[in-house]
Amino acid sequence: MEFGHAPAPAKELRKHLTQGRVAGRKSRGRLQYKSPKQIADRKQAQEAEPVSEFEKLTPPSDGEIIEKRRKKLHVPDRPIIPFIVGDGTGVDIWPAAKKVIEAAVEKAFQGRKQIVWFQIYAGEAANELYGTHLPEDTIKAIEKFVVAIKGPLTTPVGGGHRSLNVTMRQRLDLYACVRPVRYFRGVPSPVRRPQKLDIVIFRENTEDVYAGIEYKQGTPEAERVITFLNEMMGCTVRPDSGIGIKPISITATKRLVRKAIIYAIQNHRCSVTLVHKGNIMKYTEGAFRDWGYEVAREEFGRFIITEDDLLSQYDGNVPPGKIVVKDRIADSMFQQVLLRPDEYSVIALPNLNGDYLSDACAAQVGGLGMAPGGNIGDATALFEATHGTAPKYAGKDMVNPGSLILSGAMMLEYLGWKAAARKIYRALQRTILQKFVTYDLHRLMKNATKVATSEFADRIVGNMN
Ligand code: NAP
Repeated sequence: MEFGHAPAPAKELRKHLTQGRVAGRKSRGRLQYKSPKQIADRKQAQEAEPVSEFEKLTPPSDGEIIEKRRKKLHVPDRPIIPFIVGDGTGVDIWPAAKKVIEAAVEKAFQGRKQIVWFQIYAGEAANELYGTHLPEDTIKAIEKFVVAIKGPLTTPVGGGHRSLNVTMRQRLDLYACVRPVRYFRGVPSPVRRPQKLDIVIFRENTEDVYAGIEYKQGTPEAERVITFLNEMMGCTVRPDSGIGIKPISITATKRLVRKAIIYAIQNHRCSVTLVHKGNIMKYTEGAFRDWGYEVAREEFGRFIITEDDLLSQYDGNVPPGKIVVKDRIADSMFQQVLLRPDEYSVIALPNLNGDYLSDACAAQVGGLGMAPGGNIGDATALFEATHGTAPKYAGKDMVNPGSLILSGAMMLEYLGWKAAARKIYRALQRTILQKFVTYDLHRLMKNATKVATSEFADRIVGNMN
């Protein structure tokens, strides 16, 4: 699993991708001329800027900033990485994950590299400190330091509360929710051959029914929309309906599918599948499929063939080095991942389908306790535990920290620190094969030893070499 830095055939892909960039650089060069007045204005603005850009945070002074220049990540040896402990079981899983990540970096680089952590706040802790669940400081810190990691956050049900996770994804334009799903030997699974599932899901993160455009039943807004639809558009919406809007754009679809295809090329993946419900929602889900194929053909023609090409031109045999781009209807895809999981490799899909499918796939390989995730945009990336706050277990040192630990490993890969990530995968695998597991896996395994969250982390560290 690699998310940031490209192995072969990176050279060819880099060349392919830079063709567009060179043109951009020229025009940026022309724009760099500034008049004396512009320079004076800029200087004045800089002088007027406050000393600290944060209200209540002080970044560590002994680390350096990760930078993103020309779409490339520049990672210093001591990068400052903001972290959010999270609500509920965040207090249990964050210390465990931090310990494992730090040990892996130390083992891999022997002190030459080290993460400098920077605590930032969201959720309950932020509310206590700032009087709001998502302070501007937090958004600014993630923007400034480029890569961050977080535990789970509570979203109160109903009452007009917006999910903090959704808000952060939209505010930071973290448009791709990337979820690698693969099996670790020994993890109890509800299917007979869980090792056949090895996929990376790219879920669109900013629009679809998650866009937050909803009108409550009975409100003047809902009434106005219903009247418009019924009177102007010839619809027959029941007057006592609540209304939700599902926007799916060319922009968001293409950048997501582009990211998925680049990932597939960089990681020698054999296929990219566009999953949609276009047979019913033609102009949203169906359009997602059509725009996805457009990106594939127009921008990556040298690297891909479509499934139609495969059958019509290649007699079903994939030419060496080509990635097959295909599409599946969402309901059928839920069957496919159970019946023929090894036919799928990278999957790109709109927000709601992606939400469902990622959890269903995670269940096949051991549940959410072991499922990592990262929300990745062009400017920043936020890695996270994919499960919720599991409040009934909070503070009990009981739950599985695997999701956050693996998200940490994903983050290390994103930084290009793959040697450290590999240490985590191997040590986690050893610990599971030794049958030292937390309660969730213990209840499904024979002859296993149940360990606390903290002990599970200690065992993983002990298994690192
Ligand atoms: P949840 O917190 O994920 O918990 C549901 C169940 O999943 C738990 O009761 C537990 O099952 C299992 N589980 C969760 N985390 C686990 C772990 N680390 N190790 C082992 N098992 C684990 O889902 P929820 O109860 O629906 O949501 C609680 C709160 O979390 C809500 O406020 C929700 O909005 C929020 N949430 C946040 C995120 C996020 O921050 N990314 C994601 C989802 C939900 P058993 O009891 O069967 O052992």
